[in-house]
Amino acid sequence: MRRPLVIGNWKMHGSLALVRELLDGLKGVVDGLNCEVAVCPVSVHLYSAAQQLGEGSGLALGAQNVSTADSGAFTGEVSVAMIAELGVKFVLVGHSERRELFAESDQQVAEKTAAVLAQGLIPVVCVGESLAQRQAGETQVVVLRQLNAVAEHLSAAQLAQCVIAYEPVWAIGTGETATPAQAQEVHATLRARLAEVSEKAAQSMRILYGGSVKAANANELFAQHDIDGGLVGGASLNAEEFSAICRHASK
Ligand code: PEP
Repeated sequence: MRRPLVIGNWKMHGSLALVRELLDGLKGVVDGLNCEVAVCPVSVHLYSAAQQLGEGSGLALGAQNVSTADSGAFTGEVSVAMIAELGVKFVLVGHSERRELFAESDQQVAEKTAAVLAQGLIPVVCVGESLAQRQAGETQVVVLRQLNAVAEHLSAAQLAQCVIAYEPVWAIGTGETATPAQAQEVHATLRARLAEVSEKAAQSMRILYGGSVKAANANELFAQHDIDGGLVGGASLNAEEFSAICRHASK
């Protein structure tokens, strides 16, 4: 039985005050839920977020990006070890905005995934096709290429530690959501590929759906057999809405 997971990706939004307000709004809500919940503020807000939540909080923290390098002359970069020191549990890797806007390659995504695992954190590996790729019937080819780049870079045991997030690019921040059937089809494809590496791992690994998830559509999406929760952008910036999404995952 896979424990559902909902992760809020706050992207480059907010301020220290907003982070404090959101965490206050979410703190009590996640207790008692039958799912895991995490939020990903920008890295400069992680320290104060960790302080506010304190140790043993039911709400976990994630980072939105990391460097592949351990340390050194890499101006502007943040290492996994630095993130780990703050008590962060998850790291988003290969989000489509990183792939598109910062030209992150499949190889870099694979290397970041390995770097995250090396520090004992959990990579959330994002894959997803663009609208043009979906319309050209290339969805499966694209997501499998992205997953394979990571799978082939890791041992089976390492891969089993990852969370996968299927995020169709055309659904991110657009208000357009994949239908539950469309999402389930891709999730099943991803799980079948994982099963080629390890059937046991495939059954235990969580595959999240992301792309305009909101309280109104979360229930139907999370009810799909291979959807184990969500990666939520815009709707996670509202504590009530995000809490409602988490409650749907907890059912
Ligand atoms: C995301 O950024 O990962 C995302 C899914 O955003 P949104 O929920 O706003 O579509």
